[in-house]
Amino acid sequence: MAGGKVLIVYAHQEPRSFNGSLKDVAVAELSRQGCRVTVSDLYAMGFEPSATRKDVTGALSNPSFFNYGVESHEAYRRKALSSDIVEEQKKLQEADLVIFQGKLAVLSFTTGGTAEMYSKTGVRGDFRYFLWPLQHGTLHFCGFKVLAPQISFGPEYASEEERRGMVAAWAQRLTTIWEEEPIDCSPPWYFGP
Ligand code: ZN
Repeated sequence: MAGGKVLIVYAHQEPRSFNGSLKDVAVAELSRQGCRVTVSDLYAMGFEPSATRKDVTGALSNPSFFNYGVESHEAYRRKALSSDIVEEQKKLQEADLVIFQGKLAVLSFTTGGTAEMYSKTGVRGDFRYFLWPLQHGTLHFCGFKVLAPQISFGPEYASEEERRGMVAAWAQRLTTIWEEEPIDCSPPWYFGP
């Protein structure tokens, strides 16, 4: 989709890491397609991940008892959320495709364990179980159409050649990502056979 706006939310400390490579191929391939790619590099930005009263500017509606849900909702209506949050909200609203690239995020991420560990009978259980709160509870709830996740299993245990293969597979998938149908983001996808 030439001219499409893509936001990559990237969370890793080391640019030369495997995660850094996955981000780099995504930027290269999507730019090659003529997309406008923005990267929110959360560590480089020093993005504040905890939800605190600093997220709200100006007077609180109840200063004697801080309720984050109430105060942030009020602040959103008064346009009084802190500028770092407003900036990210703007990027999300403008984007046609959002890729989350980080150890704990959705769509494209790496795992500490191998693929077998994330199967129904594996020690971690089926990988779809831990995607439920993120993909369904957060993304779907916020109105996203969710594409199948890109999971690079256990790069730490993989050979150099296997790691190259995982990066190449991601680059290959991105060539046709605009034609993909979203997953049926409903309980059967996550908890079915
Ligand atoms: Zn869903």
